[in-house]
Amino acid sequence: MRYVSTRGTAPVLTFEEAMMTGLARDGGLYVPETVPQLSHAQIAAMAGQSYEDVAYDVMRPFIGDTFTDAEFKGLIAAAYRGFGHAARAPLVQLAPNHFLLELFHGPTLAFKDFAMQLIGQMFQASLTRSGSRITIVGATSGDTGSAAIEAFRGLKNVDVFILYPHGRVSEVQRRQMTTPVEANVHALAVDGDFDDCQAALKDMFNDFAFRDEVRLAGVNSINWGRVLAQVVYYFSSAVSLGAPHRPVSFTVPTGNFGDIYAGFIAKRMGLPIDKLVVATNQNDILHRTLQTGVQQKMGVTPSISPSMDIQVSSNFERALFDAYGRDGAAVAGQMEDLKSKGQFAISQGAYEMLRQTFASGRVSEDETRATIKSTLATAGELLCPHSAVGVRVATDHLGPVPMITLATAHPAKFPDAVEQATGIRPPLPPRMADLYERAERVTRVPNDLFTLQTLIRERIRP
Ligand SMILES: *Cc1c(COP(=O)(O)O)cnc(C)c1O
Repeated sequence: MRYVSTRGTAPVLTFEEAMMTGLARDGGLYVPETVPQLSHAQIAAMAGQSYEDVAYDVMRPFIGDTFTDAEFKGLIAAAYRGFGHAARAPLVQLAPNHFLLELFHGPTLAFKDFAMQLIGQMFQASLTRSGSRITIVGATSGDTGSAAIEAFRGLKNVDVFILYPHGRVSEVQRRQMTTPVEANVHALAVDGDFDDCQAALKDMFNDFAFRDEVRLAGVNSINWGRVLAQVVYYFSSAVSLGAPHRPVSFTVPTGNFGDIYAGFIAKRMGLPIDKLVVATNQNDILHRTLQTGVQQKMGVTPSISPSMDIQVSSNFERALFDAYGRDGAAVAGQMEDLKSKGQFAISQGAYEMLRQTFASGRVSEDETRATIKSTLATAGELLCPHSAVGVRVATDHLGPVPMITLATAHPAKFPDAVEQATGIRPPLPPRMADLYERAERVTRVPNDLFTLQTLIRERIRP
């Protein structure tokens, strides 16, 4: 299995190389050269299997000879051992034919743990084998950073730096990043918004001298390994509801297009998915793009679902690559327009492909709060604001096909918004109940590339 860049000119890599590289050297994102197919019988055989067994069956065809079968099984087992639920990704029913996929039972209470815990295991195995070290720099709107720190804290051949927008993450998110005591963990509060953090990260990757000097590696959803780990729960949940014998639909609260793109890969692998519905908050660039065929950046307005407060949606590039028939030059042209003009217009054929594949909806702040309240009343389920955005959009797409809405975070990760909507302050699970008492350690930094690079150079261990 080989990996190619969405912009067509970077070197073709193995799975291991693509995972350790992150952003391609031509500025693109790595995708598999071909998407492996699972047969009807292979998917049917997943019924009744453990999450780990489904994970192995879904991901094995993508990893080539990076790990032996036994090694890969061991890494999967270690990745999900720390989850607080035996099913890993349990389904609960909200309404007739509407189901919620709870992806928040991992160590940092958000779906990012599914990918990050596995990546942590895979990075460690690969680095131990090669005897090398890396510097991980990640940009976060809150959950990626906490999940990355949790996955890499204390590893001896990794230093991890997380850039988050100062004052724009929830207190639980911040504390999960600032309270780990390990010396290889560095939380950096940037004076800017998430897009500034992500832009600084991209600039570091495009500074090849710096990139090679510090052995930079990325764990944002530009990393193919993350997308791959997220494909698994589309299979595990669909099979519980009768796939491949009957189709299912999914609604996914998204900003960076990473999670929904994983659903698209599941569909291309042969999982019978009817609708894939994109749910956005008021920062609705993806909804607007899918409705109009034009992607246009606007300012970010902070919302009660901050992990989706995004205007530059990295993973959309992967979908564009497919929509353009895997024409890297066409994608590179569109990305150039986005950078220079703040927008691009998708060509007719590509737009039609996207329209056929993805539906979309946008949810206001008031609707989000109302959905948290009504779902508690009708189903007894306390939703985080991101999950509520999904549930609200999904209700417009209910029909004869079962709908699965992804619940991306635990309500206790966003207690203020949940309390405001319901009057109930959701408690943290007992295993992390002392989070508010732990001491914090963070460095405030300006939104300036040179300052950030200098700080990273000074802090990495030889
Ligand atoms: C990251 C995140 C999202 C958005 O995920 P995408 O990668 O943008 O699809 C949604 N909800 C929560 C809680 C998140 O942490």
